[in-house]
Amino acid sequence: MTGNETVTRRGIMLVLAAPSGAGKSTIARRLLAEDPMIDLSISATTRMRRKSEEEGVHYFFLEKEEFISRRDQGAFLEWAEVHGNYYATPRAAVERSLAAGRDVLFDIDVQGAEQLKQALPRDVVGIFVLPPSMKALKERLMARAEDSKAAMEVRLKNATGEISRWRDYEYVVVNDDLEDAYDLVRSILRAERAKREYESVIPHHVDALLSE
Ligand code: 5GP
Repeated sequence: MTGNETVTRRGIMLVLAAPSGAGKSTIARRLLAEDPMIDLSISATTRMRRKSEEEGVHYFFLEKEEFISRRDQGAFLEWAEVHGNYYATPRAAVERSLAAGRDVLFDIDVQGAEQLKQALPRDVVGIFVLPPSMKALKERLMARAEDSKAAMEVRLKNATGEISRWRDYEYVVVNDDLEDAYDLVRSILRAERAKREYESVIPHHVDALLSE
């Protein structure tokens, strides 16, 4: 280390998981809009595109055969079947961001979160977003007019199983008030960044201080 090199910390893989309707996507969107150091991992899925969704922005929409072929080629960091459709995290984009010292946000389900943690335990920080009540969860799901009633019921039924996995995450945020929940997620991210700088950037800073 000469003192002239720029030391960066390694990027964080921030996994936001939650039962559908807990408000996770709203928190994710805001974090991405306000924090220039974080990239979104855009998943691949075999689910039908909703009218409000754009290819390559919300998801990469794939036919099932294409999905399976990419999965078998090792193009995905994790994959899972969720509510009857396949979802996966493409590997290349994540590796590019982390290597550049940027953080990556994952809006994925509990099975995917578990796989990422097993593959890269040091890089993953898991935050589980809980609704304040099952009644609130149901109301939020019903307000999402884009999904059919049957799709909503599948999501609600899956919620109990997902919620029972809360101990798999480092942090739990109860989304009673969106502003408070968002602030807590931001604070967690700041603290986790500081923790990584302790290992990478700070030792060099201390060396420089002591040699002044
Ligand atoms: P939706 O169909 O509402 O967009 O997403 C349904 C569920 O699939 C959500 O819980 C979402 O977080 C999850 N999901 C989205 N992308 C991925 C992914 O790449 N991998 C996994 N395992 N789950 C995902």
